[in-house]
Amino acid sequence: MTIAPQTPQAPAAEPLELLRTMLEEQFALHTQRLTELTVYGRLPGHGGYDRHTLDVLAAASRQAIADAAGALRRMSEGTYGVCEDCGRPIPLGRLRALPHARHCTRCDPGRDGRPR
Ligand SMILES: [Zn+2]
Repeated sequence: MTIAPQTPQAPAAEPLELLRTMLEEQFALHTQRLTELTVYGRLPGHGGYDRHTLDVLAAASRQAIADAAGALRRMSEGTYGVCEDCGRPIPLGRLRALPHARHCTRCDPGRDGRPR
């Protein structure tokens, strides 16, 4: 992943609103998906999914919901966009690619974005 060089600075108000919308959409989408997966899991034949796939998808949705909720909480607390390790602002380019990022590129290359 390449990130355009830029001066690190706290996200301005307008991009922050855009990021908030992206996070709210992520939260809503995965909440709905998790509900669907839960319903499939109760159906005979699991709605055509195998049990393991359902579990993997549900875990990914739960993680995405937690990531989005955490980022929205940090926005309301005013700590959004600041690296949890070094305390520096997370570059806007990284936040656009990964709105729930909790670390700057240097402290956490890739980890925030990889499925666990
Ligand atoms: Zn950092």
